[in-house]
Amino acid sequence: MSLLCLSATQIDMWPYHPQLLETPVPRYTSFPTAAEFGPDVGADDFIDAVATATDDVSLYVHIPFCEQICWYCGCNTGAANRPQRLAAYLDALHREISLVAAMLPASARVRRIAFGGGSPNAISPLDFVRLFDQLILKFPLDNPLISVELDPRSLSEDWRDVLAAIGVTHASLGVQTFSPHLQAVIGRVQPQETIETGVTLLRSAGVTSLNFDLMYGLPGQSREDLFSSLTMTANMGANRIALFGYAHVPHLIPRQKRIDAALLPSQEERFRMAAMGHAFLLDAGYAAIGFDHFALPGDPLEQAALSGRLRRNFQGFTDDRAPALIGLGASAISSFPSLLAQNEKNSGRYRELLGEGRLPVALGKRRSVEDRRRGAIIEELLCHGRARIDRVTLEDAWERLSPYVETGLCEMDNGSLVIHPHALPYARSIAAAFDPYRQQSVRRFSSAI
Ligand code: SF4
Repeated sequence: MSLLCLSATQIDMWPYHPQLLETPVPRYTSFPTAAEFGPDVGADDFIDAVATATDDVSLYVHIPFCEQICWYCGCNTGAANRPQRLAAYLDALHREISLVAAMLPASARVRRIAFGGGSPNAISPLDFVRLFDQLILKFPLDNPLISVELDPRSLSEDWRDVLAAIGVTHASLGVQTFSPHLQAVIGRVQPQETIETGVTLLRSAGVTSLNFDLMYGLPGQSREDLFSSLTMTANMGANRIALFGYAHVPHLIPRQKRIDAALLPSQEERFRMAAMGHAFLLDAGYAAIGFDHFALPGDPLEQAALSGRLRRNFQGFTDDRAPALIGLGASAISSFPSLLAQNEKNSGRYRELLGEGRLPVALGKRRSVEDRRRGAIIEELLCHGRARIDRVTLEDAWERLSPYVETGLCEMDNGSLVIHPHALPYARSIAAAFDPYRQQSVRRFSSAI
């Protein structure tokens, strides 16, 4: 397929209403969002919430280090060039694992473990094995599904052997773009061969679900650039793709000041790129999952979307249905039905707290019944494109919602709000109409597209 083969109709299938995309909105990887977290939540709340985790539990383990820091990155991560700092962090993480595991009710079972960061492969393969051993020793693992985010630039045969031995089946590679000139302007240079080698290593390690993170809206990026990255991604057989718009917010992420804002594409061009990416991936046989994920038929994420089991959590769209997600490591967020709790973000302070034998919970939000009800509506809208809305909630949201209804992007149908397929880029904005916290602090979020 060439770019010309993607017809204008395919690329223009999404109507462009710039005024409806003007207000930045959250990504809603939780509700309430992290913007609502406050210091009134602490270790005691966390202990109470863990005591309710009597069923399936998922773990998220955060490694806040990278070999090299990309200029666009908004993650909580730092350079992995100081071995003592890494060792001290891992020591604290081992302590946190012991502390938290000891609090779990006897009936809890860990069914998933996700390693993220940063780049989990910024630590040594041996340290990774030790970390995994600590999880096996302390937590009640029940044949867990294991996923790892990886930097293709630091993958090696040693890593392949470790991932295979541990039984990692799901992996995500930070690719972003294959275009060398774009890699240079975002501070992430990784030749195509590096990605190809990474894919080969991961497949031989037993990874069956491989995700590529890609970006549009990069400085100086053309549609041809995006088309070529998508083509290479499909040719390399990625099972999943997360296609994100680059969010340029240097007032929040100072490392982005190195990126030349003058080269950024216009809002309309970003919109067209997102539409082109969507059209390309559907044409290439991928299923659209939510508003920015794609999966090949047969992948567990596609199966979850087909059967109505898709969820949204801190990792994006997911098939994870566990009611409790426990975050371990600096800045990691835990999610329970009644609580969201975030660990201390500063890794020095995180180490200090654990050195004193204290849990590192620093921030959070107790979820009221109304929070849970609103959160369920937002999650339904983003995962399934429809949600039942009662009359009182609809009246409350109507002023914010009506512009989207009037432009034909969504409609009420027999008590449910339905987002039409051509309104995918507006899904977050439509969902935000049901977010009562969203009347202020617009600078904290990214553009909806
Ligand atoms: S490798 Fe990933 S986590 Fe690390 S700086 Fe780059 S984008 Fe951020």
